[in-house]
Amino acid sequence: MDFLVLFSFYLALLLIGGALLCICLKTRYLKGLVRGGAQIFSYIVPEWFQRAMLRLLHYLFHTRNHTFIILHLLLQGMVYTEYTWEILGYCQELDFSLCYLLLPYLLLVVNLIFFTLSCVTDPGTITKANESLFLQVYEFDEVMFPKNGRCSTCDLRKPARSKHCSVCNRCVHRFDHHCVWVNNCIGAWNARYFLTYLLTLTASAATMAIVTTVFLVRLVVLSDLHLETYVDDLGQSQVIDTVFLIQYLFLTFPRIVFLLGFVLVLSFLLGGFLCFALYLAATNQTTNEWCRGDRAWCQHCPQGAGAPSVEPRVHRNIHSHGLWSNLREIFLPAAAHYERKKK
Ligand SMILES: [Zn+2]
Ligand SMILES: [Zn+2]
Repeated sequence: MDFLVLFSFYLALLLIGGALLCICLKTRYLKGLVRGGAQIFSYIVPEWFQRAMLRLLHYLFHTRNHTFIILHLLLQGMVYTEYTWEILGYCQELDFSLCYLLLPYLLLVVNLIFFTLSCVTDPGTITKANESLFLQVYEFDEVMFPKNGRCSTCDLRKPARSKHCSVCNRCVHRFDHHCVWVNNCIGAWNARYFLTYLLTLTASAATMAIVTTVFLVRLVVLSDLHLETYVDDLGQSQVIDTVFLIQYLFLTFPRIVFLLGFVLVLSFLLGGFLCFALYLAATNQTTNEWCRGDRAWCQHCPQGAGAPSVEPRVHRNIHSHGLWSNLREIFLPAAAHYERKKK
């Protein structure tokens, strides 16, 4: 029971944490939370440790580095080694279909291809040479993206929907976000690869979770474990229930049950992120626009005390033109098409 309670608690904590982070991102609470957390942190830990932590965080999240790519490949390698080492062998003994068992490997190959493409493809870097081209792609809404905006770092005119990435130090066309896992920005030209990468990663985690669950269930059924009885602390004979079975399996196959727990949590987290990414793709929004959405007001509209009472204009999504058109924009990005025509 202890293991189940701990695992459920861990899972609930992760899911609630993810949901809270989404709510905080959409409201103004995140900055306050981070500031409050940093203040508490500064009282508890010594200064040298704080400086070292800040340097580490700066290196990890504010510079381009391969740490998360290595971590990603290491985790993927460990999960697949465990799957090959234990589950595959047992499943073959239990006469599982080979197509079914090889599906995670097929997904891995496709996933690694799209992972590499997401890492190495130019997301749509804006330069002096292509600036005018990008300026024609999207309409300016004059709220979030004013027509005469200029990037103060690159000194380039800002095309609508673009943003300067402080990690990569460049302006990116249709900027979505900077992803540390692929060590690259996600923009107009690699959003399609990133979506497919996310889809195959979620599918491989879910497939592995299903194969492992089916293997454990078949094992229980074949050995008639569920029909057995056990003697409890009071000396009474009890029929084995689900909780007892899970504990028994954990003690007998700890690595396999741990792997199942890991891929289950991963499937939930990745599934949630994938649904969010698909929602953004279907409604033609970028993560950057979604985060800024409620806070974007027309900068030229009068605000504050003494200003005339004119209703300020808030951000409105003017780029959505129906589901298929929105998806076509992701998978066949317009600027890439223009760029090809120019060559
Ligand atoms: Zn810039
Ligand atoms: Zn970037």
